[in-house]
Amino acid sequence: MKIVVKVGTSTLAHPTGRLNIRRVEELVKVLSDLKNGGHRLVLVSSGAIGMGVGKLNLPGRPADMPTKQAAAAVGQCELMYTYDKLFGEYSHTVAQLLLTAEDVNFPRRRQNFENAINRLLELGVLPVVNENDAVATDEVGVSTTIGENDTLSAIVAQCVGAQLLILLSDIDGLYTADPRRDAHAALIPEVREITPELRALAGAPGSALGSGGMATKLKAAEIAMACGCDMVIANGRHPELLYDIAEGRHTGTRFIGRREEA
Ligand code: GLU
Repeated sequence: MKIVVKVGTSTLAHPTGRLNIRRVEELVKVLSDLKNGGHRLVLVSSGAIGMGVGKLNLPGRPADMPTKQAAAAVGQCELMYTYDKLFGEYSHTVAQLLLTAEDVNFPRRRQNFENAINRLLELGVLPVVNENDAVATDEVGVSTTIGENDTLSAIVAQCVGAQLLILLSDIDGLYTADPRRDAHAALIPEVREITPELRALAGAPGSALGSGGMATKLKAAEIAMACGCDMVIANGRHPELLYDIAEGRHTGTRFIGRREEA
């Protein structure tokens, strides 16, 4: 199976911006094992800016664009150094692919990206994808950013023809209400259609669902489902959940990709 796994900064780094070593080691171990089992994997990894903040000892996430770009440039190196080292321990080769919106919005450029990533997969390499935050900025009047990695990972799933997209988040999945405020909030195990009600749930201002980035996750689900790819939201605190998800067992929230009727 071709699987795209997206990990967010909250999964990879401590609040200090420094690497969560135990978490990343677990993640790399499980991904390596799934790869050994025959799956083809793509990792969409955030964390460039967060880790740059840690490495540069900045007081917090930078507010100005040039410092953000600088932090991304430093942090992306650190991120790839870590992945290269840890995946190398399991004899897996990684490759870095950094994208801007223009690389996926223009058909010619998108084809170039598809050629590269699909060839890497054929060669048995594990591509690690992120937005090119050092150059993709919205400051110059034109939008060159995708802006967040939920959408980016769904576009990548589309480009490689993945059967499964897994978003590792800091929440267990999609809930019927804000689980931090409502004791009756229940995890929704399966979604077959993104209804206006679901959208309202994810986009409700001030809700933990919204602030947890559920709106972008639903957008990603729509892209994935439209191309027949299942998408699962699960908690990144437990990388071993990836085994269950890959085997189709119920974990988190699974959005069922649209299949052609036979
Ligand atoms: N590309 C950003 C980074 O590496 C993260 C975007 C996101 O988390 O959605 O810091």
